[in-house]
Amino acid sequence: MATILLIEDDGSIRSAITRALTDLGHVVATSNTGMSGLESAVDNPPDVVLLDLGLPDIEGLQVLAMLRAVSEVPVIVITARDDDADMVKALDGGADDYVIKPFGIEQLEARLRAILRRSGSTVAEGPLVVGGHRD
Ligand code: CA
Repeated sequence: MATILLIEDDGSIRSAITRALTDLGHVVATSNTGMSGLESAVDNPPDVVLLDLGLPDIEGLQVLAMLRAVSEVPVIVITARDDDADMVKALDGGADDYVIKPFGIEQLEARLRAILRRSGSTVAEGPLVVGGHRD
């Protein structure tokens, strides 16, 4: 289980991703503007941020820069296919990975798993690990 902050202004994409990730047992917080997303990331630091580059109030790249000024949280950028230059800027600006719209949810999930594996912030298999055997 991981806590994921999804910053995305497109309502249908937002609800599809939220539903899919919630079904996997993740806790998903959503923001539909860059500013509210930044506030959310500071108030309730997530394990991963999913950041759309095309936001109504603040440019996604700007959101990334502001986020990076205060947080090392892994960021997966969500970008449109014709945003190639922006995608490069996003990676150079501190994004950890990206998905290109339109994308299948399986691809997003796989990238998420990879990020979580690297950051080591999840994948505990319940309390079994702690006590050990008693025989
Ligand atoms: Ca958008």
